[in-house]
Amino acid sequence: MDLVRPKIRDFAAEVLAQGGMTSPARRHLGRLVIVTFHRVLPEQFRSRYHIPGIVVTPEELDWTIRYLRRSYTIGRLDHVHGRHEAGDAPSKPFVAITFDDGYADNFTYARPILEKHGVKATFFIPAAFIGRERLPWYDSLGFALSPASRRTEVERGLLARHDLGHVADAEPQTIIEAAKRIRPHVRQALVEAIRPSRIPAWARTMSAEEIVSLALEGHEIGAHTMTHPILNTCDDASLDWELRGSKSLLEKLIGREVTSLAYPNGDQDARVLRAVRTAGFQRAVTTHWGTNPRGQERLLLNRCDIDARRMRNLSGELSESNLALRLSGLHPGLR
Ligand SMILES: [Zn+2]
Repeated sequence: MDLVRPKIRDFAAEVLAQGGMTSPARRHLGRLVIVTFHRVLPEQFRSRYHIPGIVVTPEELDWTIRYLRRSYTIGRLDHVHGRHEAGDAPSKPFVAITFDDGYADNFTYARPILEKHGVKATFFIPAAFIGRERLPWYDSLGFALSPASRRTEVERGLLARHDLGHVADAEPQTIIEAAKRIRPHVRQALVEAIRPSRIPAWARTMSAEEIVSLALEGHEIGAHTMTHPILNTCDDASLDWELRGSKSLLEKLIGREVTSLAYPNGDQDARVLRAVRTAGFQRAVTTHWGTNPRGQERLLLNRCDIDARRMRNLSGELSESNLALRLSGLHPGLR
């Protein structure tokens, strides 16, 4: 295992933190930082999930929110983005807390932690999956596919027939990545053909009641399309449905305007941006790594995903210096 890079990273993180080089007040003054979480799951479930890199445990979330609340002016995206654009520049820079994909674990595990810290956040919801026994396609595939070592001939055949023969012997995570690039109707056909026999209770998406509760408690509900497709690959009609359909469905549900959008997988192009503008969104977030100066194009906001493995030092302890280094954008090779 390569221990040199983590060693250098830990060392650099400490030295830069001591010199104040990665301090939020210095690095991010006048900028808007938007952090991204996905799943929040206890360790016993993270180890059984096919994309462990997008999971933080409740303890890691609690630790991260405590750090961010102390170092930044923290809040939901629409609020802090509005203040940032209006020229407000507090001595503690702005950070917005966002959760993607509308998982029920956000309600079960993240909500009480946010409440404890008095922090409001933004939850981006794929509207077609609210309260259904259905998951976004990548989770359906993840739970349906056996690990590579136990892949059956039937599964291999199905993958081959759906443009994924080249990854038929790979682990589910690799197949999911490859499936992002195939035609949407082929991917949908595969998902229908290979449905998981059982979805674990901890993996489900939020119910309508849970989403309404979050809105009533002061959190922002943002759109994350209807079915979480790669928008660039949608034809005009489905692009319109994915954007306007999700906005109006969520607005009906929570009884207030939905102004923020997250692009599935972060993907967009000029045609998608036009459709997002037409649909009436006021801001949209990508997965492009970075922070935002004032005047950043509001439909192309950069974000910083939170990766629990990179907040820990070589001894396995959560390290504020390491998190500060990562958020600082310095030394991207060590991120
Ligand atoms: Zn997503």
